[in-house]
Amino acid sequence: MKMKLRFLGAAQNVTGSRHLLEADGIRLLVDCGLYQERQFLARNWDPFPVSPSSIDAVLLTHAHLDHCGLLPKLVREGFRGKIYCTQATAELAEIILLDSAKLQEEDAEHKRKRHERTGKKGPYPEVPLYTIQDALNCFPHFEPVEYGQIIDIAEGIEVSFWEAGHVLGSSTIRVSAGKGRRRKTVLFSGDIGRPDRPIIHDAGLPGHADYVVIESTYGDRIHHRTQEVKKQIAEVINSTQKRGGNIVVPSFALERSQDILYYLNELLMEDAIPHLMVFLDSPMAAQITEIFRRHPELFDKDMSRLIENHQSPFDLPGLKITATSDESKAINHIKGTVMIIAGAGMCTGGRIKHHLANNISRKESTIMFVGYQSIGTLGRLIADGIKNVRILGQKYKVKAHVVKIQGFSAHGDKNELLAWLEKLKKAPKQVFVVHGESKSALAFGKFVRQKTGWNTVVPEYNQTIELD
Ligand SMILES: [Zn+2]
Repeated sequence: MKMKLRFLGAAQNVTGSRHLLEADGIRLLVDCGLYQERQFLARNWDPFPVSPSSIDAVLLTHAHLDHCGLLPKLVREGFRGKIYCTQATAELAEIILLDSAKLQEEDAEHKRKRHERTGKKGPYPEVPLYTIQDALNCFPHFEPVEYGQIIDIAEGIEVSFWEAGHVLGSSTIRVSAGKGRRRKTVLFSGDIGRPDRPIIHDAGLPGHADYVVIESTYGDRIHHRTQEVKKQIAEVINSTQKRGGNIVVPSFALERSQDILYYLNELLMEDAIPHLMVFLDSPMAAQITEIFRRHPELFDKDMSRLIENHQSPFDLPGLKITATSDESKAINHIKGTVMIIAGAGMCTGGRIKHHLANNISRKESTIMFVGYQSIGTLGRLIADGIKNVRILGQKYKVKAHVVKIQGFSAHGDKNELLAWLEKLKKAPKQVFVVHGESKSALAFGKFVRQKTGWNTVVPEYNQTIELD
């Protein structure tokens, strides 16, 4: 069985995950993600390096945009096969892809108007990368699978999905091909969550592998302990309430928003914070929370116990999930301390902008960051301590307290990633380190080599490696 692996994304960078595995003429694409780092955006517009119609199946690890965000384009350009993923991933990906398609359409329209006004031309065409219709066309290709189920993709090729502990429905994918002693197994880690994350099961590890493709987002770092996250949130709530301000939390809709509700729930049960109104002011986070409710089979022991005892974080006392923008605006008139969780996570758009505008110049209030803020975003400017800021066309002085909660990561740190690898029953022939900036990927490759003596490779973009 001839096998080769081509790295078409997330190779010495974080986003745009795409790995093409060829076995005996069968082509499997593991993830088909959008590039989100500014310097790689052009790759989203490039033609696919192989014809989409020549790909037999897509294996999708999870619903984050940097893993699924180019699927509508793949289908539009001729892919006709199935997209295998867990049921939760399929449901989440539909919401995330529709939202992405809407943004693509809006972006194209803004660009067209701007170019018309200024008479300039940009590097990319003024059409959306893909449309809402393209996203809708891709959904019938989803083929939900269960964890641990063996799927016969083609003659002699078996695929199975295993829990990755990163976000709801996230998977590590194992592909085996060939017969007898010539059989080879390749394991794609997907994104691996930290152990003991709220709500979902920890990552497992399926047996053995001849080759491993592993993420390295935080491959050169050690995280704060998860226990400290809760302590920091309690401190923010208690001090802000004493001052009589609000807590404004820019948050990603998937997993992070639900994690915050989980911690608030625990803190309330421990009497560590006062009762307060909590607004989940994001239509997307509201839809995603509904998907969580539908999948109790994916909850860990602690979360299941909470559900049994009618103490679900999704029914947190004081929680209001606001659907309409009128309800959202009404939040501003509430006296006393409230917490407002809203998107976008990096303050690049969405309802969070209104809440920032209403609170950023109040010295009683707190802006609480719970996620990574990219360079160039409004969130990054505020998190870095800028004194004057422009929001929705108005200037504001930053007087609110700005707090960055540490340790809130959905990715394992270098020790946690190594611990995951070390659960392999025997040494793999090669470990390919992907999904990390060069510095992080190279450092993690070296770290694994030092600790285990295994052969590690940090592939480059578009590199093909024969697996023999
Ligand atoms: Zn992810």
